[in-house]
Parts: sequence; C-alpha cells; structure tokens
Amino acid sequence: MNVTRRGFLASGTSLGLAAGTLGLGGCAALGAGSGPSARSLAPGVTRVALGSVTATTIHDGVISRPLDANFVRNAPLAAVQEALRSAGLPTDKLEVPYNPLVVDVGSQRVLFDAGNGEFGAPTNGKLMENMTRAGISATSITAVVFSHFHGDHINGLRNRAGAVVFPNAKIYTPAPEWDWWMDDARMAATPEAQRGGFAAVRRVFGPIAASVTRFQPGVEVLPGVRSMPAYGHTPGHTAFTFDGGAGNKLMYWGDTTNVGVLFARNPDWAVMFDMNADAARETRRRLAEQVIRDNMLLAGYHLAGSAIGRLTRLGNGYDFIPLVG
Ligand SMILES: [Zn+2]
Repeated sequence: MNVTRRGFLASGTSLGLAAGTLGLGGCAALGAGSGPSARSLAPGVTRVALGSVTATTIHDGVISRPLDANFVRNAPLAAVQEALRSAGLPTDKLEVPYNPLVVDVGSQRVLFDAGNGEFGAPTNGKLMENMTRAGISATSITAVVFSHFHGDHINGLRNRAGAVVFPNAKIYTPAPEWDWWMDDARMAATPEAQRGGFAAVRRVFGPIAASVTRFQPGVEVLPGVRSMPAYGHTPGHTAFTFDGGAGNKLMYWGDTTNVGVLFARNPDWAVMFDMNADAARETRRRLAEQVIRDNMLLAGYHLAGSAIGRLTRLGNGYDFIPLVG
C-alpha cells in the first residue's frame, strides 16, 4: 500500500507536530489511555485504532432537505420537529450527512460504500478529496464493499467518463441486493417514474458486472470482514463487523438508521427510504442490541459528527454519541 503509516504512530500523543509533518490539518486526540484512540485528521475525517484493525471515516458531504411530513412515515411531523428541537437542531430542514468508511484489516484496505461521486449535489461528492486529507490514495484501496445499492452509496464507484475510480480494487456486493435490482422483469413492472434506482444500479454496475463478486450476507467477505443480513432498508441491505482483538470490535451498519437523533432515538420510526419498514425496524433493534451487548464501536453512513462512536440506551431506543463531534 503506497500510503504513509507514520500517521498511525502519533495516535494518542500530542499531535500538533504530527499534523504539521503530515500536512493533515487539525488533529485532536481522544480516548488516550482508555478505549479506542480516535484522531480527527480533517473535518469529517476520523481515524480510529482498534487493535489490529484501523477504521477511517471519510465524509462525502451533506445534503440539506426541507423537513416535511413524508420523511418519517409513521410519526407526526410535530413529533419529528420536537425530536430535532430537543437535539438542538433546526426544525424546518434536515441535514443528512454521507460517510463512507475505510477499514485497514490484514493485507486489505477496504472502502465501504463509495459516496455520490460526480452524480450528487454540489454539497457532496467529497470522498476523494477527503481521502487525500486522510493520506489514503485511490490506488491503495484493495476492495470496495457495498452495504446496498441506493445511489448515495454506489454512484461514486465510477466517474462520468465511466472509469472505476479505485483502479486496484475488487468489488463486492450482497447477492440479494444484486438480484433484486438487476431483475429486468421487476424493473419493467415498476412504474416508469420510479425506475431511477434501477437505472442507477445498471449505470454503475452494468458495464463491470463480470468483475463484481456477489456474496451471501453471513459469510466472511474478506479475511476479517464479516457480513450479516440487515434486510429492510433494502432487500439485500448488509452490515459488517470487525474484530481488532483485545475487545476492539466495530460494526458498520450502513443505513440501518438514517440520522441518529431521529432513528436511533426512535428505532420504530420508518424513514421514507426504508423499502420494508417492518423488516428495517426489526433489523435496527437487533443490530443495536448486538452493538451494546458486544461493546462494539458503531459506524453508520448517515450518522452525525465522526459517524463512528458509541451507542447507548436512551428511553425506548438508543443514542449515538460520535467519538468526534
Ligand atoms: Zn443512504
């Protein structure tokens, strides 16, 4: 891997000098001496040492959407606004962040989900520049693994010219996700106005289909990368776990929740994007309980701040507390 490892050595120490040496911008050390050590390498770029595993969240940007009654399908708008107000957030709009994850495990450097690339709003598509800030080159990525096939997770794999932007990476997708979206009969039976998702999947994966590995959720996708079914948000939505030894465990749960202040705190609420709301609810509680029971760190694509942190119990649900706010 042609990426400097010097950055890892400064973890938990005074980092001003390291930041200057590496040109990484502002750094902050958290958790030195207790629990995992997290460093903010740049705004939206956080590296966490988990024993033999290193996780780096890479912010792809954010989208701001007006808050309307449709966003949470099964809660009154007033309740959603109250949840935002109690979290100190505006109540007329919602900022949804996008946070792919890079995990160094064994000989692999694995990117989980690929951002919006050149196909999103001007406020996202920041994955590549933030990877550079993290000292991670596109050529050093050895595998890209997808949690599911919504556009904000897959669009960044190939650019407008058609090239895969991670030239040395093998590509892994959940087989049930592939089978659902690539089913031509299902696409044909879908009203034309709702075929955009099918078209995006074909644009991204169609020309490179022969080189995509499809795995069954539940298998070890790569050494140290364990997958598990997390169906509901989409038919093949998949989560991943990592074990760095000495109690250092991490789950990446993709879109098991959208923003945490709404859907971790209210796990029975259904975001408009959950394709099977009942299954998504069951998955959300099952995975949250596993994170707490196994004392795991949690990373999620639409979680706040560093998008990697702790999950605690709160009321009838959970609270996500990022390692870096
Ligand atoms: Zn998403």
